[in-house]
Parts: sequence; C-alpha cells; structure tokens
Amino acid sequence: EPVKPSNFLRQIIEADLARGAYAQRRWGGSPGDAAHHAAGEPDPARIRTRFPPEPNGYLHIGHAKSICLNFGLARDYGGVCHLRFDDTNPEKEDQEYVDGIIDAVHWLGYDWAQPGEAPGSAAPYQASDYFDFMYRAAEYLIVQGLAYVDEQSAEEMRASRGDFTKPGTNSPFRDRTPAENLERFRAMRDGQLADGAAVLRAKIDMAAANINLRDPAIYRVRHAEHHNTGDKWCIYPMYTFAHPIEDALEQITHSFCTLEFEDQRPFYDWVLEHLVAGGLVAAPASRQYEFARLNLTYVITSKRKLKHLVDNGIVQGWDDPRMPTVVGLRRRGYTPHSLQTFCERIGVTKDYSWIDYATLEGCLREDLENQAHRGMAVLDPVKLVLENWDDVMGAGHLEPCTLPALPHPPEGEEPVLRHFTMGREVWIEREDFQEVPAKGYKRLFPGNKVRLKGGYVIECTGCRKNDAGEVTEVLAQVVPDTKSGTPGADSVKVKAAITWVGVADGVAAEVRLYDRLFTDAQPDAGGKDFLTLLNPDSLKVVTAFVEPSLAGAAPDTRFQFERHGYFVTDRHDHAAGKPVFNKITGLKDSWGK
Ligand code: ATP
Ligand code: MG
Ligand code: MG
Repeated sequence: EPVKPSNFLRQIIEADLARGAYAQRRWGGSPGDAAHHAAGEPDPARIRTRFPPEPNGYLHIGHAKSICLNFGLARDYGGVCHLRFDDTNPEKEDQEYVDGIIDAVHWLGYDWAQPGEAPGSAAPYQASDYFDFMYRAAEYLIVQGLAYVDEQSAEEMRASRGDFTKPGTNSPFRDRTPAENLERFRAMRDGQLADGAAVLRAKIDMAAANINLRDPAIYRVRHAEHHNTGDKWCIYPMYTFAHPIEDALEQITHSFCTLEFEDQRPFYDWVLEHLVAGGLVAAPASRQYEFARLNLTYVITSKRKLKHLVDNGIVQGWDDPRMPTVVGLRRRGYTPHSLQTFCERIGVTKDYSWIDYATLEGCLREDLENQAHRGMAVLDPVKLVLENWDDVMGAGHLEPCTLPALPHPPEGEEPVLRHFTMGREVWIEREDFQEVPAKGYKRLFPGNKVRLKGGYVIECTGCRKNDAGEVTEVLAQVVPDTKSGTPGADSVKVKAAITWVGVADGVAAEVRLYDRLFTDAQPDAGGKDFLTLLNPDSLKVVTAFVEPSLAGAAPDTRFQFERHGYFVTDRHDHAAGKPVFNKITGLKDSWGK
C-alpha cells in the first residue's frame, strides 16, 4: 500500500494522538453517561469517529466519501468508527433503508466492531437509544437556567430571531424560572401540548452574531410514533442538540461533518461544555471538524431528488446502474476498491469544488485493468461469411482458437486461456466494414486484408445487401496458414486486427449500454430543474454476441470487452443461458480508427 497523502484531518488526529489527548479515556462497552465511562476499562480504541446517516434513503457517492473518510481514518490510526443511525425524527424511517445502509458500509469494506469483537457481529448504534439521556440533559439545562420553554407561535419566533443585519429580540417567555420551565417541559413530555404549541430553547444570546446561537430550539412537540421507541415520546430532540450528545455518549473523539455544519459548531461546543461541566458526559468532549462535501459532475447527490427519480419511474430503482447510489454503483460494476481509491484520491479539503466524473471512472479502470478477464463481444453484429472456408479448411470445420484471459497474468500464476472457435461464419461489428472506405480506413473493405483477432487473416471480397441497401452479410476469404500463433502468422502483413465472435459458439447476450443520466455537468446547481436535464440516451439495450468464455460467468463478474470497455454480469438478471451485461465504463483510449 502506498503511503497515504496527509490532509488537514490527519494532521489534527496526529497532533491529538501525539499529545495523548485520549490517554485517560475509559470505555464501558456500551454508551452510557459520564459515571459509566469513568468506571470502564481504558479505551483500547485510540480515536473514535462515526458515520451518522439518517435512514431515509439509500446512500450515495457523497456518503461513500464520508464512509471512506471516517472508517478509513479510524482504521489508519488504530481506532474505531461507529455506524450510527441518526433516527431522531419520528417520521417513518424504513427498515429497508436501515438494511441497505448496513449492507453498503459492509460492501465498501468497513465494520464498526470494537477491538476484540468479531467483524460483522456488532449492532449499529442508534441515536434513538439515547432519548432518555437526552431528556435528562434537557432537564439539566433547565435546572441550570440554560433552557426555557417558549410558547410563542412559530411565526412569532421566526420574527423575533432577527437576521444577519439585525439582532433578535427576547421572547416574553425567556425569563421563566427553572421551576416553571420544568413544569412546562414535563407538560410537553406528558402530551399536554399540541404539536407546535411550545419548544424548549437553549438560553444563549438573542443578539449573537451567529444566528444559530440565538436561543436555538432543542426539543419540539411531535405526537408521532417512532420506529424504535414507539409511542413512548411525544417530544423529540432537534438534530443540533441530539448530535453532540450522540457523539459524547459514544466517546467520539473526532466528529467529521460537511461544511454546512460549520456555523453549528459553536452550539455543538456549547452543549458539550455544559454537559461536561455538569458531569453528564465524560471529558474530553468530542470535537467537530468540517470538510467540503463531494460534488461530482453529472451526478445528483440529494436523497430527496434521487428518491424522486425512483418514485417517478425515471430510473428502475435505487440500484439502477445509472444511479450514484452505492447499490447503483455496485450493480453498475464498480468495485469497493475503486470507490476507496476514488475517495482517497479526491482527498479532503475545506474548499468546495467539483470532481470530474472521469476521476471515478479512472479509479475503476485502474482496479480492473490487471484483473478483469478479456473477452470479445460484438455489440452491433453483422454476419461475415468466409466463402472459401469449406474448400480450404474442410466442410463445417471449426478451428479451435485461444487468447490469454489477461495480457499480464499475476506473477507466479499460470496464464489462463480463453477458448473459442472460428468457422465459416463469424459475427463482426457493423462498423468494421465499409463498402467504400473512408480515407485512412484500415478495416474491412473490398480487397483489404485484416486479421480476425486470435484467428486467421481474411481478405474482404464484398457484401450482400437487402432492398433497403443495408449490408446483411460481409463476404471474405480466409487466407490459409495465417493463424495467430503459428509460424505463418506473419507471412501476410495487415494493418488491423478486428474483434469477432464465431456464429457456431458465440452466445447471444443482452447488453445494457449506460451513459450519464444528465446532459448537464451540474444538474443540481444554481436552481436548475434537474428533471429537464435528463439524458434521453442514458440506457440503450442491445443484443450482442459474446465469446463462450463470457457467457458462463457468475453474476457480478467483471470483464474487459476488447475495444469496448468494462462490463459486468448483472447481479440480478444474469443467469446461465441468459447472459446480461452492464457497461461499466469505456476504455480510456477510445478504440483506434
Ligand atoms: P442528503 O442531503 O442527500 O439527504 P444527508 O447529508 O442528509 O444527505 P445523512 O444521512 O444525514 O444525509 O448523511 C450522513 C453523512 O454523510 C453526514 O455526515 C453527511 O455529512 C455525509 N454526507 C452526505 N452527503 C455528502 C457529500 N456529498 N459529501 C460528503 N459527505 C456527505
Ligand atoms: Mg439528512
Ligand atoms: Mg442533506
């Protein structure tokens, strides 16, 4: 493994470790409060990070960046990264999404087991497991005079918040006594107030320059059932209050998030400062650090918009190979390693930028170049007939041919050979014949010789056409004694070798040719309507012929179709006798003239 380039997050971690920032920390196994942690064993994990998705959709490539970052840093520094479901919204969160997220993290190659625990055995963390603690923390703030129940209308609260140009004004409820606030908060908890009738607010400063510190709401009334806690609660913590507490209870050392949360950091620190002071959570407090989210050209990374594509049948599901979801990329043929390389390569910065989609494709090619078996496939077939075959080779003769599966087999491994046959009729690409050749055209035209890759040299003699003038068959003669790998192979010089598949042993296959889903490089930016920017040609399905070695592959097997690019047998639809391939990406160098 090459040494990983440093970045500002690595520098922060290294500095923290160097000064022994977490040396005194204790770990009780499962999250609890300060007393629990204080009584525990020394924490064997040096750092703790977390990946905290909301289970309201499938993960996308942006989440993959966050996963690789958080799990990758924990792994590199001997720590642990927690998968935590941020399920503080009672709104219906689907088990399907929970399972999908667990699957995606595992598939990307990461696990949240504690030191000594078997990988794959640990349950993910759930924010909703901490509702009791969060409630206690809220009461603690009330008792300390640091929170109050505000019963203004939402409208009034919005108006009194002020904006960037003017400070806010204090709520008439701001000076309630702790006893009065406790009574009202418990009334909220006990279901005596309707949704929206009151919120619990942190009491900070209505004139703070940072609007997030103008007495932010920390609890709201929401009479709704929660998938984990059922109808136990009718008040739910706000994300900005819940998140630092979740981090603290799990003893997260470095809480990495995207830059949108930079303005929330002072409140994050405010919450933990007070809870540490009150002995409710252990010191040192978790710290939040921000990095720029991933923007990838031609891709949308908003769960809501991706869901729109799914719900409206614009794509065939969350795992449609055109989707930038982890399940979509997986089905498309991306490997975990290629996605890890991608995340490593784009790095982390604090600057917004757009990453070119080609970077992602490059990582895939790099991963597959030396390991994906080669094969020939004819995607736009026309039949080529070798009219002298039976006379020269014998009637019905099928000549066995081979080519290596890999141009450079791994050291110490026997080269694998692909076996196929050449006969009187073969499939070639329609574009490999021109009746009247364009200038510089080197492939088949009457009088020209080319090699059928791995087979014989042939000389084109003409073609047959239908009434519409379309070529229905290309005609040629085999040149005897020119088979690849035999002494006569070089006796005839040719300027091109073309790919082909035997009619006798080629297998018909469904090939799904994918292109980008959007025609605009930034379909999601600047208020553009992404629905008007869909690429009408993002999927083209063709019936191709593939050489026999390809057809028998297991689902989810990747190949390089010579000259065409990388393809994968579809995870769901490919079966013996019914091959289905997805195009992952083309070859870097487009195939020569
Ligand atoms: P969306 O806006 O698509 O719903 P989200 O940010 O709400 O995404 P969460 O499930 O809340 O999704 O996010 C889980 C984690 O993934 C968060 O820490 C978030 O910062 C991170 N994340 C989401 N999108 C990106 C992105 N494009 N680049 C990097 N990290 C991201
Ligand atoms: Mg979210
Ligand atoms: Mg978001």
